[in-house]
Amino acid sequence: MDIHIVTLFPDLFTSPLKESILGKAQERGVVRVAIHDLRDHTEGKHRVADDAPYGGGVGMVLKPEPIIRCLEAISAEAGPATVVLLTPQGTPFSQEMAKRLAKEERLVLLCGRYEGVDERIRLHYTDLEVSIGDYVLAGGEIPALVVLDSTVRLLPGVVGEERSIQEDSFEAGLLDHPHYTRPVEVEGLEVPGVLLSGDHEAIRLWRRKESLRRTRARRPDLFASAPLTDEDRELLKEIEAEEAEAG
Ligand code: SAM
Repeated sequence: MDIHIVTLFPDLFTSPLKESILGKAQERGVVRVAIHDLRDHTEGKHRVADDAPYGGGVGMVLKPEPIIRCLEAISAEAGPATVVLLTPQGTPFSQEMAKRLAKEERLVLLCGRYEGVDERIRLHYTDLEVSIGDYVLAGGEIPALVVLDSTVRLLPGVVGEERSIQEDSFEAGLLDHPHYTRPVEVEGLEVPGVLLSGDHEAIRLWRRKESLRRTRARRPDLFASAPLTDEDRELLKEIEAEEAEAG
């Protein structure tokens, strides 16, 4: 997969791209990430990429021409790409969207700054608008990293154990179960005994039950549309009985 990031602040990507899963995915050649400095596509010695808004008011707007030139350069060098504009006004990002993006051959992640990009870019040069949540950040770089990280870890061969992805929150419509590691006891707090039992079936059922319990408690919205099996319904009866007993 080929991912191009268009930004006014390329240095913001230096460390995140070198470390951990993103770094390894590039080393293994599973993904190629190219950072494009918008200022390289400006004109004049001051390399200005923004301008005042028509109609007046506060804030600056990213000029359209440097963005258009940058997108054209990417397309000419690498080929056609799906252009994703990061904007708080976009479609809320989700695991489902990450899965969809992971199937693309080439992505451009376009990072806004200031008041955002000139509207003509949004209207005529982008394929998808993505928001990472109902809050406003100073720029699209952190949202681009969120999209990049969650998409790249889904590519085959990036995460060592494919099963760990399948068991992640949201993958099967539920939140993940709790995780424990050594030691068995810390500050008087113990690991649930079933996890030490070596009984794989009992562990599987415990994990499924805890996954159901926490999704139901924390995310009733997810739980309402989670695909439940007969076994899940039995586990839910147990949870309800436990809750009734606890009062
Ligand atoms: N004036 C814009 C608005 O109210 O919709 C906000 C601009 S914001 C200060 C600057 C840039 O940060 C945006 O163009 C976008 O690229 C990025 N950004 C901020 N919040 C975001 C979010 N929640 N999701 C995705 N991108 C975001």
